[in-house]
Amino acid sequence: MVEPVIKLESVTKRFGSLTVLDELSFEVKPGEKLALIGPSGSGKTTILRMLMTLEHPSEGRITVDGDYLFHMKNGNGLVPASEKHLHEMRRKIGMVFQHFNLFPHKSVLQNITLAPILTQNVSKVDAEKRGMELLDMVGLADKADAMPSQLSGGQKQRVAIARACALRPKIMLFDEVTSALDPELVEEVLNVMRRLAAETDMTMLLVTHEMNFAKDFADRVLFFDSGHIIEDGPPAEIFTNPSHERTQSFLRKVL
Ligand code: ADP
Repeated sequence: MVEPVIKLESVTKRFGSLTVLDELSFEVKPGEKLALIGPSGSGKTTILRMLMTLEHPSEGRITVDGDYLFHMKNGNGLVPASEKHLHEMRRKIGMVFQHFNLFPHKSVLQNITLAPILTQNVSKVDAEKRGMELLDMVGLADKADAMPSQLSGGQKQRVAIARACALRPKIMLFDEVTSALDPELVEEVLNVMRRLAAETDMTMLLVTHEMNFAKDFADRVLFFDSGHIIEDGPPAEIFTNPSHERTQSFLRKVL
């Protein structure tokens, strides 16, 4: 049996009195392309943010690549993870955000090379070589010396994807990466994601409102409602034959 690359075990997340995720459990296999869909506020982004260690679960455990994310083994038990452990675990995961989050005062190429040089001791020459390969992959090799302010939204997002790939993560998280874009710029970003999926074996989790994209990109779809998973299956099944009325009415509204 293939070991899951991500495993959530009874994860609950509360913000004050609000329970956003309620004893959630699921596993993701290496290389899987998983789309998280469902109404706004159902907890999808919170899952990605926990995997990035930007949020801590209130209860439950998360395993990434065979290691606990927020815990460490100590004798027979588990203790809270040290900062060093969290740092090591974070290297396995890259994330692309809705609002790009590029460094505004750095060139496109510097945006991509900064983290490998500073955090992974990669030489400037090697980081730039890899950076140019990644820019080539996202179709922006000619923009290496441009500043982010000189790029369109779609181009910025393609740079953000290249930057997230620079640290060679095993897992890539995409959080509504096309929501802030003008409609005519969406397709170029989706094309880059398709290319990434075809050319790498990265595990990908995406939160998206682009149902048609989810349908042809993902090999598995989770539908969330009020902090629970109410559908889990291949897109063909969930989009054509959802088992819950709740999913049917959501899909009627967005498709
Ligand atoms: P989704 O991605 O499905 O739209 P989110 O995970 O962003 O949902 O949010 C789930 C719920 O958690 C929402 O009600 C949101 O307002 C709340 N929430 C998210 N982050 C915080 C936070 N840092 N503090 C308080 N509430 C939060």
